[in-house]
Amino acid sequence: MKIALVGIGKIATDQHVPSIAASPGWELAATVSRHGTVTGIDAYTDIARMLAERPDIPVVSLCMPPVPRHAYARAALQAGRHVMLEKPPGATLSECHALAGLARDRGLSLYATWHSREAAMVEPARNWLAGKTLRELTVTWKEDVRHWHPGQDWVFEPGGLGVFDPGINALSILTRILPDPVHLQSAVLEFPENRQTPIATALEFHHPGGAAVSAVFDWRQQGQQLWTIEATTDAGRLTLSDGGAHLAIDGAEAGLGDDDPLAGEYPRLYRNMARLVAAGGIDMDLAPMRQVADAFTLGRRITTDAFHW
Ligand code: NAP
Repeated sequence: MKIALVGIGKIATDQHVPSIAASPGWELAATVSRHGTVTGIDAYTDIARMLAERPDIPVVSLCMPPVPRHAYARAALQAGRHVMLEKPPGATLSECHALAGLARDRGLSLYATWHSREAAMVEPARNWLAGKTLRELTVTWKEDVRHWHPGQDWVFEPGGLGVFDPGINALSILTRILPDPVHLQSAVLEFPENRQTPIATALEFHHPGGAAVSAVFDWRQQGQQLWTIEATTDAGRLTLSDGGAHLAIDGAEAGLGDDDPLAGEYPRLYRNMARLVAAGGIDMDLAPMRQVADAFTLGRRITTDAFHW
């Protein structure tokens, strides 16, 4: 199936291009980007022109930051194309619902991807937790924004989500593995005095069984980077680390995924998209984004040191 990739920046270059190349079912037929290109691939700078000139491309994958994504997704759906969305699927819940409605009306597939849910040990963790009584769960997502998002000012602009840009990956795993849904109960958000989005946050969730469920996200982490979920149950302790790549039960290694977790996750997203288009339908789980929206609604704000790259 031919596919067009839109927004040729960091994640498109690092993951989407190699994943499409490695997927026998997909052919990268065009790119749309104002500055970026992929060697040997037809390059457009304007999506309307690509949609008009390339009726042979039925699927469009959008890799730009969340704020501009809605207009591109809408244009593609209106032109009768199936659409795949990078995470988060948009800047607001309402625009995501609007896209889902448009896709439904047109009979097109729309896929809100959550790459961290494709980490190798997420499903084994979900299976292990099923049927157990949760007592406590803590999420620790601490990374260095200067390393992972060098110079990407959009992450600190409205709609860029700040530390929730990686944090929503943790929430996508949390909302997948827990047998009982949690909802946000309180949040503290730390905003650099010169920025529009938080650089750190602490979250507490209500769990229907009374378990203590909490999360800490911090973008100021030096040294070891931490992407860990630890759960204590009536039948042992689960540790999901490296963003879902490693699983340990009661401290003993129980599963090891890809060396480079993202390199395994993205081919699985494209496999899922191929299946979705073949079967027809929409896969638009907004649960991770709802938790983020709740944190912005409910969170207590603290002003912290200015952030400079
Ligand atoms: P990026 O490199 O800063 O941006 C990707 C591309 O989007 C840019 O190169 C730019 O291409 C285009 N773009 C930027 N602003 C735009 C605008 N206002 N209108 C139209 N196009 C615009 O960002 P990224 O790191 O690839 O992240 C993109 C998305 O992928 C985000 O939602 C992020 O959460 C997600 N993601 C990122 C990573 C990561 O490690 N970086 C990992 C997983 C998921 P042109 O200037 O050429 O048009």
